[in-house]
Amino acid sequence: MAVDALPDLTSYDAVLFDLDGVLTPTAEVHMHAWQTMFEELFAAWDIQPPYTERDYFDYLDGKKRYDGVASLLRSRDVEVHWGDPSDDPSADTVCGIGNRKNAVFSRVLRAEGIAPYLGSVALLDQLDAAGIPVAVVSSSKNAEEVLRTAGLRERFPVVMDGVIAERDHLASKPAPDVFVEGARMLGVDPARSVAVEDAISGVQSAVAGGFALVIGVDRGTGPDELRNAGAHLVVDDLAELVTPPASGPLPEPATPQIAEEKPA
Ligand SMILES: [Mg+2]
Repeated sequence: MAVDALPDLTSYDAVLFDLDGVLTPTAEVHMHAWQTMFEELFAAWDIQPPYTERDYFDYLDGKKRYDGVASLLRSRDVEVHWGDPSDDPSADTVCGIGNRKNAVFSRVLRAEGIAPYLGSVALLDQLDAAGIPVAVVSSSKNAEEVLRTAGLRERFPVVMDGVIAERDHLASKPAPDVFVEGARMLGVDPARSVAVEDAISGVQSAVAGGFALVIGVDRGTGPDELRNAGAHLVVDDLAELVTPPASGPLPEPATPQIAEEKPA
């Protein structure tokens, strides 16, 4: 199904949003956190060449946290034990270093804050005014913290995040589980609801979950890539989906008839 005209989202039963890249520009905070952590680590271990932004795109972006750590260290001929996800952030293992990055992420988030995309807030405002239920469906275990920091938490009665997914053993995107569970928690039918995503795996998840409308937000992934993943519609910013107030002449007021028509 392709969508030509921009749809009115208030005609659906609910809208479920991915978080990172859809509601907040969180990728920048992740980049900053990786950089801070690796610069400290490289200095402490005297690793050369120094960490650069290129390393983020070559070794970290899109990978699971621990896989990213291992591949970046390997690029500098550094091997450390894998360790365990429960490792303390001070542990010099792949998992410990990954957990250290997460601790830095939280620190950066607290120190610098994060502002939501204004277009996304405008759409949330419109949905709220129309009484349309909304939820967040995120793979991130930091979703609650990001939402609170961005001042968005109280807008969402349901936040289906990485913590719940792990607890309930839900398969991660591109499997449909998390979007379907988000709809269930919100008490809505995916077949009458909208999903909004910026990642290929997220679009695939929502399509597999049977959502009536899957919107791709192109923050750099590319419109063709999002459409090929199954997005029915791709926008650059959610402001495009905010319906402008009705324009043109006001409708004629109903002709008062009381004066002319006398009751029989
Ligand atoms: Mg995303």
